[in-house]
Amino acid sequence: MKIVRFLCGGSEHLGRLHDDGPVTLLEGDLFGPLHDTGRKVEVEKLLAPLEPRDIICVGLNYKKHAAESGAEPPLHPVMFMKNSGAVQNPGDPILLPRRLRSDRVDYEAELAVVISKTCHNVRREDAFAHVLGYTCGNDVSARDWQRNGGGGQWCRGKSFATFCPLGPAIVTTDEISDPGKLGIRTIVGDRVLQDCSTADMIFDIPAIVEFFSASMILRPGTVILTGTPHGVGFARNPPVFLQPGDTVTVEIDRIGRLTNPVAEET
Ligand code: MG
Repeated sequence: MKIVRFLCGGSEHLGRLHDDGPVTLLEGDLFGPLHDTGRKVEVEKLLAPLEPRDIICVGLNYKKHAAESGAEPPLHPVMFMKNSGAVQNPGDPILLPRRLRSDRVDYEAELAVVISKTCHNVRREDAFAHVLGYTCGNDVSARDWQRNGGGGQWCRGKSFATFCPLGPAIVTTDEISDPGKLGIRTIVGDRVLQDCSTADMIFDIPAIVEFFSASMILRPGTVILTGTPHGVGFARNPPVFLQPGDTVTVEIDRIGRLTNPVAEET
């Protein structure tokens, strides 16, 4: 099932997105029983498919991206966190910071994993039993604040408001037999700047869930961003950074297309 969150009549709802376009109303809880009423509804505004409880990210998790970053492949998943207040809806703008200014705002296409139940010390063979589904994520990053202004951590440079577009739909695990073989791309304007497969991941989803849940309790609604492939803007020659008026699309096979315009913070 493809689950979307949206506004209709001024209130928030969950719906089932059908392949031919219409949305039918879902009743229930995202992490509990969900019932498809079959009733078609008008989506007035699409929202990010959930408000994540936590956003936990994996850095340097694609072989070619680690290489373009000048890093050795890590021995364990590189973990950092992103503020959940950074979530942005599909279609709403990524804002370039102008108060705490950045001129080096970059895109990162990522497969986002949505955790379905509280878990701790999950074994890799049980990992998918704790996953609700997948959506597209963009781990937008201010490289200047990531590298130099973050006190040695990546949290600041990656947690500006609007720096975590998610969506448009959560595709449940039953529809994706192998999330380790999905094409993943970033398109800025008419340029395809990232074009890879999740098969290039160093640590696959079971390994990530096992490792993260061994050091912390994961709760329903935790989103794990699983890393970005090669082709990010800072590593290109010449570098490419997001500019006002750009349109950024993260596209993952069988998961969806997440598009956001880029504007300056006012
Ligand atoms: Mg990332």
